[in-house]
Amino acid sequence: MTSMNENEAAALSLWVAQESPTSHAAGVNGMMDLVQKDIAGLPIALERIPGRDGLGDMVVLRAGPGNSQPAVAVMSHLDTVHPVGTSAKDLPVRIEGDRLYGPGVYDMKGGAWLALQAFKQVAAAGSARRPMVFLFTPDEEIGSPTSRSVIEDIGRGSAAVLVTEPARLGGKIVTARKGVGRFEVKLEGRPSHSGSRHADGRSAIREAAHQILAIEGMTDYARGITTSVALIGGGTAANVIPQHAWFSVDCRVTTAADGRLMEERILGLKSHDPDVKLRITGGMNRPPYEKSPEVAGLFEIAHKVAAGIGFELQDCPMTGGGSDGNFTAALGVPTLDGLGIDGDGAHTLQEYALISSIAPRQALIKGLLETV
Ligand SMILES: [Zn+2]
Repeated sequence: MTSMNENEAAALSLWVAQESPTSHAAGVNGMMDLVQKDIAGLPIALERIPGRDGLGDMVVLRAGPGNSQPAVAVMSHLDTVHPVGTSAKDLPVRIEGDRLYGPGVYDMKGGAWLALQAFKQVAAAGSARRPMVFLFTPDEEIGSPTSRSVIEDIGRGSAAVLVTEPARLGGKIVTARKGVGRFEVKLEGRPSHSGSRHADGRSAIREAAHQILAIEGMTDYARGITTSVALIGGGTAANVIPQHAWFSVDCRVTTAADGRLMEERILGLKSHDPDVKLRITGGMNRPPYEKSPEVAGLFEIAHKVAAGIGFELQDCPMTGGGSDGNFTAALGVPTLDGLGIDGDGAHTLQEYALISSIAPRQALIKGLLETV
């Protein structure tokens, strides 16, 4: 490893060691403090937006020329899915060869960190063509409930949005993502003693079983629609016909029209047993991010910038995972995603980033900030 790589890995390790699961506002705010510290003394304006609903703060950085042109925006989330204590036990922050392991290093502290270094370089050099904005958010991993409006406001004022979610499959970036829907289903039946009064009961869990099979049956791989039930609960005791049950539904679609259709189908479900009440809430959370001609045009610019740095940039086919890029792309703002660090194991205890990918990815973001 070169000494430059060592310095970068050490600096990024400090970010990874600061644990910041979405629900731990103090930890997320600790990440915002690290951003604040990192830009001290540079010609960068910082705005800190206090968190709400128990979540962490947001930080907005602004730099570059003060002209009235639309900005180029970078967006990174600093929350992770890993609970506090993960780095002490299951996923210690450590370097093994070219791999830097740790909670959130790949999704997406590595990308956030390297993009901030690029942003700082361009701000210090005064080489931006447009005003630059950098938004750090606290709640992407739960669907961005408190940051969505800020993401959309900044998106509307931008000519391009660069999202630093992890790179894919050896450095590919993301130019299309499925839309994501979330639904909650609550069922209420009638309780009874499962031994002496079995026939009097109306099982909320049996009804849930019917509904779950119906919902999972809406999956259509050929059309890019998937539904899955991955959280479920209900019942009170092994000898009581259950009065209550609940489950949640995750739905992915490739087009906005399919999103509307799936909302209609899921919200319109009727109970199989008329004595069990069914309450369904929710809807599409992230609209699909489709590779429009404008997105393709922005990708061409990135491809040229990468060629200048010395690598061939590729994008990957539409991915199933949503991100904040879905929000800005759905507004028609050219958006590139997956510009972050390379590595693997997002959301797992084997999560790592490739240290050697920091330099080229950072150069790509710097080039985009100076070119778009
Ligand atoms: Zn992420």
